[in-house]
Amino acid sequence: MPKKYHLHAKATPLDLEYVFKFKIVRGENCINCGKCSRVCIYEVHKRRKDDPRKMADPNTVLCRNCFRCIQECPRGALEKSLAKDFLNIGGSYWKPDMLISLWKQAEDGKVPVTGAGYRGPFTGPGFDSMWTDMSEIVRPTRDGIHGREYISTSVELGRKLNHLTFDSNGKLLSKTYDSVDLPLPIIFDIPADNLGANVRSALVEAAAEINTCIVIPADNITPDFEKHSKHIIPCVPYKEIDRCQSVIKKARIVAVEYSDALLGELPRVQETIKSIGGALTIIRVPASRDVETIVSRLTHAGAGIIHVVGDYRGLEVGGPAGSNPRLLKDIIRAVHLRLVDERVRDEVTLIFSGGIAMAEHVPKAMLCGADLTAIDLPLLVAIGARLYEEPKKLLILPEELEKIPVQIVRQRIVNLMVAWHSQLLEVMGAMGIREARRLRGETGRAIFFDEIDNDTFGKLFKRGDAARV
Ligand code: SF4
Ligand code: SF4
Repeated sequence: MPKKYHLHAKATPLDLEYVFKFKIVRGENCINCGKCSRVCIYEVHKRRKDDPRKMADPNTVLCRNCFRCIQECPRGALEKSLAKDFLNIGGSYWKPDMLISLWKQAEDGKVPVTGAGYRGPFTGPGFDSMWTDMSEIVRPTRDGIHGREYISTSVELGRKLNHLTFDSNGKLLSKTYDSVDLPLPIIFDIPADNLGANVRSALVEAAAEINTCIVIPADNITPDFEKHSKHIIPCVPYKEIDRCQSVIKKARIVAVEYSDALLGELPRVQETIKSIGGALTIIRVPASRDVETIVSRLTHAGAGIIHVVGDYRGLEVGGPAGSNPRLLKDIIRAVHLRLVDERVRDEVTLIFSGGIAMAEHVPKAMLCGADLTAIDLPLLVAIGARLYEEPKKLLILPEELEKIPVQIVRQRIVNLMVAWHSQLLEVMGAMGIREARRLRGETGRAIFFDEIDNDTFGKLFKRGDAARV
């Protein structure tokens, strides 16, 4: 069995102005009995350092909303109310709860726990309209205990053959392709432009520490990143490959933006990049209305890795105003099934990004047909960025971020990936899937709300009737 992949989390709180969901206030009728500090396992309630006879103000950021302290306070002195900033952040896709969950995962690398029961809806748009079937009884384990096989989250990037050809003497005639293995089906995508030097360095170092890669425009790769060259994917305009030779030479993978002109030159572009330093090529394609056709043409033209890039809310891009854009889940399924129909799906590696906001979106994207995913905004939310969707996308980074040491920023990003890796292992274990690559397109392990809704009620309510009932 291959060596086990292990990531190290370390509690890394940041003293920044967080938004939190509930504000806990200790009233004046508190008798400082300390019961709340004993019942709260998240250490929200502590005694004052300067005067241990009295309780300090509750550290609301750490609260997991279990309500136990409220119930057990003998004086009813604790009050919990919705924080007014909470409802203002995020938007219809990046819900406030998601942002808070990401912040907390970056804090300690643990799988988020929310108490007080779940009272929200069980379905919604996009990835929320699919559930994973976690009913497998014989499960692999994350640690391989009791003689069972452990779960591998590694994926392979590169062009593959769909069959091998041998001559009459049994000699292999097929030309095999190089590939790159990553231990996690996640890469980091191009960071936002307004990041400071320490955040950029932290992103690169975190990618190296978890042994994945980060896509960076070639012109933004500074000499201090050189020691992490194997974890950097330079993004180069295909007309400027010669100018970018120095960064391409050190990379394992190079990204090139798609254009119609590139299609005719694809074999030459891939060969040129390979001849410089042996790197594989990713073609970045916008998730437009005709993306299936573009991906199909690229695959038939010999592309090895294609990255389909959606909007930050997981929507189709570039459609006419007023059109109804598809969601990333549906785009992934459409692209995957198109290649399956054409019998070329196994030959190409597909990466999808845009709207991958939570840990569960990774296995769900893979069940829909992705080989792996790319993320950007969750990494910034992990270090305290606030995202607003309305009236237009706005990403606000904490002003104090530049003063925070690189190792702390890096550790928070690593913590986030520890939490996502743990959740991926849990989901795969519960589905009885031992290898991440076997998640790809495994829709037998997914339940799509639209399909079961139609199966159950479609015969009762013809289209249009349901709305009138
Ligand atoms: S349990 Fe209530 S009374 Fe006791 S210290 Fe906490 S808030 Fe005060
Ligand atoms: S609600 Fe639960 S998690 Fe929050 S402070 Fe009280 S006991 Fe701690």
